[in-house]
Amino acid sequence: TRTRESLTERIEDAVGVRPEIDDYTLNELELTLIAADLGSVTTAEVLQALKDKVDRKQVQSTDEIKGVLKAEILRLLNEAAAKSPVRTVDQPPEVILVVGVNGTGKTTTIGKLSNLLRAQGKQVLLCAADTFRAAAIDQLEVWGERTGVEVIKTKPGGDPSAVLFDALQAAKARAVDYVIVDTAGRLHTKQNLMLELEKMKRTAQKFIPSAPHEVLLVMDATTGQNGLQQAKLFTESAGVTGIVLTKLDGTAKGGVVVAISRELGLPVRYVGVGEKIGDILPFNANDFVESLFA
Ligand code: GDP
Repeated sequence: TRTRESLTERIEDAVGVRPEIDDYTLNELELTLIAADLGSVTTAEVLQALKDKVDRKQVQSTDEIKGVLKAEILRLLNEAAAKSPVRTVDQPPEVILVVGVNGTGKTTTIGKLSNLLRAQGKQVLLCAADTFRAAAIDQLEVWGERTGVEVIKTKPGGDPSAVLFDALQAAKARAVDYVIVDTAGRLHTKQNLMLELEKMKRTAQKFIPSAPHEVLLVMDATTGQNGLQQAKLFTESAGVTGIVLTKLDGTAKGGVVVAISRELGLPVRYVGVGEKIGDILPFNANDFVESLFA
């Protein structure tokens, strides 16, 4: 709602005062899209599509402008989704690695996800493979208790791959549907991160050759374009398959959803809209775009 209000009102402000769509109008629109956190690359692409239609006299009114922006944004989101479709897992458990920088809401997201899956009647196991921070293990246990889900852990400083091994062994023995793995959020160096995640992937594949089935990168929506730069580091080294965008409740700049999809070439799978257990929504591109211009 907040994104819609900020975006559509400003589109009307930008366009409403002029009888025709000229360079001034297009500049104002550019500022509007940048202000909504669409980012410069995505904004330029969306505007180019609009300019082409204006040149061909296919767009004349505010409503028509909205129509073009809506179609363009949906196209970008669908393109990103097509690059990384959701995988169907024929042999459970499905293994989900969760990566991201500390403070983005990684642990909270894991808790919310467990709850969501539990509500669908799924058996979930959490794996505390962020062994670097003792607090991360404790925090995950709190979420485990809250959602009635077992947490497999080791002592702080332990080997993340060893605890993943234990978790997968337990998951197989107990017919678990989902194993959600918390990973260390420190961005030491790209090299370290890559090595650690590679080792974890190899460990998972010993149990389940098709694992991991999903690598979710947790990103904080309020960090906008800066978060996007950081995310690129992860996507380059971690084989990310989807994004969870947290704290969307804390910003009116929901355009960052589009920037992420376009610039990382990855779909947003879930959005976080608050601190409570139920404050997570599966992301749907159609619904997002419809609500944006409703
Ligand atoms: P981690 O260090 O990445 O594991 O981050 P945490 O899960 O501990 O979350 C950091 C802070 O962000 C906590 O205070 C959470 O309550 C808060 N948080 C996480 N997700 C959301 C969200 O979607 N909206 C809001 N408003 N706060 C969130």
